[in-house]
Amino acid sequence: MGKIYIIDVTNRDGVQTAKLGLSKLAKTMVNLYLNRLGVFQSEFGFPTTRHESNYLKANMKLQDMGVLKPIRLGGWLRATAEDVNRAYELVPGIKDLNLSISTSTQMIHGKFRGISSEQAVLDTAMRALDAALKHGASGVGVNAEDASRTDTEFLVRFGKAAKENGAARFRYCDTLGCDTPFTICETGKLLAEEVKLPIELHCHNDLGMAVANSVAGAMGVVDGGQDAYINTTVNGIGERAGNADLVAVVLALKKAKGLSKKYKFGTPIHLNIAWKISNYASYAFKVPIPINQPGVGANAFAHASGIHADGVLKDPQNYELYDFKELGRGEPEMVETGREISSGEYSGISGFRHIMGKLEVNLENRADAEDILELVRFANVEAQKPLVEEELVFIARYPEIARELLTLAPLS
Ligand SMILES: [Zn+2]
Repeated sequence: MGKIYIIDVTNRDGVQTAKLGLSKLAKTMVNLYLNRLGVFQSEFGFPTTRHESNYLKANMKLQDMGVLKPIRLGGWLRATAEDVNRAYELVPGIKDLNLSISTSTQMIHGKFRGISSEQAVLDTAMRALDAALKHGASGVGVNAEDASRTDTEFLVRFGKAAKENGAARFRYCDTLGCDTPFTICETGKLLAEEVKLPIELHCHNDLGMAVANSVAGAMGVVDGGQDAYINTTVNGIGERAGNADLVAVVLALKKAKGLSKKYKFGTPIHLNIAWKISNYASYAFKVPIPINQPGVGANAFAHASGIHADGVLKDPQNYELYDFKELGRGEPEMVETGREISSGEYSGISGFRHIMGKLEVNLENRADAEDILELVRFANVEAQKPLVEEELVFIARYPEIARELLTLAPLS
């Protein structure tokens, strides 16, 4: 029986969203939280984009150090041999990749403007796959962009070619969010049966069905005898109306009627990180969590009406499907209501020592403290808002990694 895994794409689809972005430190923090939550892989960025290189390499070092473990870190790139070669020039040693190319007639004629054909798309992607494997990649997913508007026969042929040429997975992208739970369940099953590779479901939320489509697609893939990999983002952040929300997908698979008996996660999922990761991403992206967001919204466990309040007080299960503690909610949080000293790009040593002392980080050696402070100043330049406690602790604990994350050298 196939299992279900999460590949989170916040650090790729999330950050490429219009009007939104994350600092390299924030992207690193997201990877750390995803690892704690039990996500199989973070699609951590763009190996052909120069300003990503230091960040990607630094996170791969954290992986080698065992700090980012067991999570895998996958790069996203266009499925051309040129881009693959460029990726290995900039980020040597990267192991996991997703190679993306459009497969629909709409894109072939509307985007490539007729200079391509289905066969040319297939050949281009297979050359890229071959190049990636020759460079030493071990987990390569081949990605059909706009798969939901692609002729199924071609999709199967493309997937089979990917399998024959050594791909680890095949990514089905509902790029425009036009699938329904019924259509994607059927297609997921067919792809699993015909292609005989693990299938990734990448769903967008243009019709408000990204979570439902992801779950239904995964059910189809498992029914077809393969492992399913669901692409999520934290708080559903993504292009246009967003992607499938990480926490909602996990909740649906764990709590929806009858699902968890048959459709099981392949890695242990620690849902008690949900509150932390969701609030961190909200702060880092500067996007509030909707009040009615499943699991983590301010109203997700709020009751006012007489009948509901009475019912939930007698027995929470009367009106709550799951317990707030399961999501890591309910812990008291410290909010400063009096004098506040925060970190900034112009901070000095005295205020900084005060902040770090409160976090129980010992910076007795003045030279060390000055070094960490300098890194914190640079992190503030990038973030343009006070760093959160866990970011400060991360910098103090891994100053060399922080230095690499904060190094941008556009003219070299
Ligand atoms: Zn997408």
